[in-house]
Amino acid sequence: MRMQPTEHPGIYKKNDKLFTQNPTTCKGTRVYNEQLIMEDGVEYRSWNPFRSKLAAALLKGLPLNVPTDAQILYLGAATGTTVSHLSDILINGTLYAVESSPIATIKLVHVCEKRLNIIPIVSDANHPERYQHIVPPVDLIYQDISQRNQADIFIRNMKTYLKANGSGLIMVKARSIDVALRPKQAYELVCSSLKKQGGNIRRTIELAPFEKDHAAIYLTR
Ligand code: SAM
Repeated sequence: MRMQPTEHPGIYKKNDKLFTQNPTTCKGTRVYNEQLIMEDGVEYRSWNPFRSKLAAALLKGLPLNVPTDAQILYLGAATGTTVSHLSDILINGTLYAVESSPIATIKLVHVCEKRLNIIPIVSDANHPERYQHIVPPVDLIYQDISQRNQADIFIRNMKTYLKANGSGLIMVKARSIDVALRPKQAYELVCSSLKKQGGNIRRTIELAPFEKDHAAIYLTR
């Protein structure tokens, strides 16, 4: 089977696996040992749903469309696994990648060396005002930080940066919210906190079998 475009701009499928296009500046370069496939002179990178919750959510039917010129604020960039695929998609956009761990940021900065649409920011997402001199209003806020207060952190960033017609995607690890709750109760707790603070919940998608006891919450303002 040949590579097929999907309904999501910049995302392709082959044999039920997701791919993004490796930019020419990164030809032959892997970020996390992903598979590279060359077809008609274009290099594609496999997008592993066991390594990236965004790939898992897309395979489970997330209706999110990221335009190729979007401005994205990414909270919890880690070493750049998911960031690198969003970077492939954003041909004319920019990704502001916030990460609090200086050690993870060392690898993230390597990823950014050949991907000029990523701006790495070492900062604590609890304090969105600290990166206000760098980040403009954005179309999407993506959050993957596994913190108990992640709904509050998201809302603070939403109020500071999300455009009126923008959307948010929050990855929730049930155990990080409350170990005593069943996963569904933990997701409901996060949703109700988001709703109380002005979030408009569109979908909650459980990420099993790719990530057990995790869900993606998709919302708008
Ligand atoms: N999103 C990454 C990916 O798919 O490649 C994985 C993110 S990992 C699950 C969570 C990351 O969030 C860690 O690297 C951690 O250092 C970071 N983090 C946790 N709390 C944070 C905070 N308050 N501000 C910024 N980053 C934070």
